[in-house]
Amino acid sequence: MKLEYRDTREFIPVDVDKGIDRLTGEFVQADAEAPKGYTQLPKCKFCANYVEEASFKGICGASTQEPKFMAYGDMTAITCEMFEAK
Ligand code: SF4
Repeated sequence: MKLEYRDTREFIPVDVDKGIDRLTGEFVQADAEAPKGYTQLPKCKFCANYVEEASFKGICGASTQEPKFMAYGDMTAITCEMFEAK
């Protein structure tokens, strides 16, 4: 699976457009393809509970609230105990 830098653990964001590759120390574009072997960051869009309703915006299917709470595909989910990798 191809990953963008912004979706990897090896990416340190500097702003919305660019960041630093943690392994090389180089500045990289956030949406550039990351090298093979980089680790996917847990995000809602990679979670089996995420239901996308619009581009990058949806709901968390694991939510017990009604209505279910809003989720963003790019939301980092490192601390979400309900994250389930697709
Ligand atoms: S369970 Fe967590 S990671 Fe998954 S969609 Fe809901 S909030 Fe996002």
